[in-house]
Amino acid sequence: MSGVQLDDRDVIVVGGGPVGLTAALWLADGGASVTVVESQTAPGDLPRAISIADETFRIMDHLGICDELKAESLLDTGSKYFGLNDRLLAASKPLPSRTGHPAKSQFDQPVLEELLWDRAVTHPRIDFRSGTLAVALHQDSARVAVEVRPVDGDDAASELIGAKYLIGADGGKSFVRGAVSTRLVGSTQQERWIVVDLLNVTTPREPYAEFHGNGERPYVLVPGIKNRLRIEFMLFDDEDGEAMCAPERIIALCDPIEPGVRPEDIRRAVVYVAHQRVAEHYRRGRVFLVGDAAHLMPPFSGQGLNAGLRDANNIAWKLLDVLAGRGTEALLDSYEAERRTHGAKMVTVSRRTGAVVMAVGTLRTRLRDAAFRTVSIVPRINDYLRNMRFITPPNYADGVAVPAPDKAAPLAGVVGRPLGQPTVTFSDGTTGGLDRALGGGWGLVHLGDGAGIDARRGYWNGLEPRQVRVLPAGSRLPVPHEEDEIVTVVETADSIVSLCDEARAARAGAVTLLVRPDKYVAAVITPGDEDRIIAALRTYEAPLVLTVKEEA
Ligand SMILES: Cc1cc2nc3c(=O)[nH]c(=O)nc-3n(C[C@H](O)[C@H](O)[C@H](O)COP(=O)(O)OP(=O)(O)OC[C@H]3O[C@@H](n4cnc5c(N)ncnc54)[C@H](O)[C@@H]3O)c2cc1C
Repeated sequence: MSGVQLDDRDVIVVGGGPVGLTAALWLADGGASVTVVESQTAPGDLPRAISIADETFRIMDHLGICDELKAESLLDTGSKYFGLNDRLLAASKPLPSRTGHPAKSQFDQPVLEELLWDRAVTHPRIDFRSGTLAVALHQDSARVAVEVRPVDGDDAASELIGAKYLIGADGGKSFVRGAVSTRLVGSTQQERWIVVDLLNVTTPREPYAEFHGNGERPYVLVPGIKNRLRIEFMLFDDEDGEAMCAPERIIALCDPIEPGVRPEDIRRAVVYVAHQRVAEHYRRGRVFLVGDAAHLMPPFSGQGLNAGLRDANNIAWKLLDVLAGRGTEALLDSYEAERRTHGAKMVTVSRRTGAVVMAVGTLRTRLRDAAFRTVSIVPRINDYLRNMRFITPPNYADGVAVPAPDKAAPLAGVVGRPLGQPTVTFSDGTTGGLDRALGGGWGLVHLGDGAGIDARRGYWNGLEPRQVRVLPAGSRLPVPHEEDEIVTVVETADSIVSLCDEARAARAGAVTLLVRPDKYVAAVITPGDEDRIIAALRTYEAPLVLTVKEEA
């Protein structure tokens, strides 16, 4: 890397799509200096993601754009699957989410992209290089550098930007992925689909995405708010994609489903081919792949972007901890272990959903419908389908977490899972989600009056956690003092999650939940169990502080 003019950047993010900008904002909000290199000069406007998961809202809440995003989303939706003769095969809706946000909603990816872009371009710690292409990448054991040039410039205009780490968020055709010699492994679907976004639609529809596989042309219909409607049609082999996107063809395709569409109602219409692929590696030295650069999946389960945003959140908090001097190499390695496993699972689920939707021909469709009806009789499978249990959230118990040695121990099942978010009352009398008290770093959540930790332990301070005491509904809030290290909140009676009730039901006694910056539970700490948990956690988090025993 001779001749590299290294500046003081902590992280370079290549790709300012939704995933790259989420990583950049999380890092910059956490104090890191970030350069974003993006070839476009405006936020993306393609008709892509339309299903959003509860965890994505939670991440956007941290970034301060959740309310605006929700205002443009159809909240709390489900899916219906139809077979031959448009007969309903299954209606699914995820169980109510414990995270404080609806489990599944319909949104509009360009709305999210614009919200993220607007925040990123004005962020004081983000150096946003739009209209700039990353063209070469170099790394050694100490740093990484990327060569960039204006999209419409020539080689002479190229520049090298250096940083400690680099995130490759540059989409499915990722230049970064190729530059670190990583392949996307998997396959590409044969079928092409045409995606149509309509405006000014007035037909009333239920809040369900509809998957129609009637043996003829499969299609998917997804209602939005403000009279928006997404329709996706499968194309047949002999159809010319470009010709099918002409307004008159789109109007004819839509007519049996949504009659009366005018050319001005067609917001966008594009052809796409779905892939089912996962990168061999998510980490190469100082370079990390996220989002579509790391995995591509068919859109039928609505998981591609949601998985990418989890990637962004996961690597961003880990890099912040490493930059703060406490995160270890093992913490960085855990990014691939945690995210690749779940990403690959979502690719498989999406491929299977696609296979169900895309059945054509009377025989194949009949067989599919019969199989659906047969398996649905089994109560466990019926529950699995009805409650969308096939879309499983990640479980990081084998990652940066310390499970209880005894699986039957109180609350053992919450380790590695997202922290439930009760609605709580704060000391100023306002109510809101618990996340507001926790912020974006580590958290120690004491349930009820006791605590599972010895607050004098220097190790906990080394994680710079926010400490929150959650009292059961009906408790009195103590008067807060400025010097209080612990913020106290009270659960509201109508919250759908009560962490205090769960602890009581599990007979957990005095208990403190150790919560990761991405709001996953890393450990359930009870008195006497701290040494074991701290020893295990040191693999990932090794702050330069002494425990009380070491001090003595
Ligand atoms: C029809 C369709 C429906 C979908 N539905 C859903 C859904 O319902 N739910 C869901 O979760 N997901 C869905 N997805 C998937 C989702 O849209 C993608 O997963 C998501 O856009 C990926 O975001 P990203 O930021 O990783 O990549 P991108 O959005 O592709 O962003 C990459 C960025 O990198 C930039 N870039 C590329 N190369 C360079 C370079 N060399 N230098 C500088 N910049 C570069 C690009 O300009 C771009 O802005 C759908 C996709 C499609 C096609």
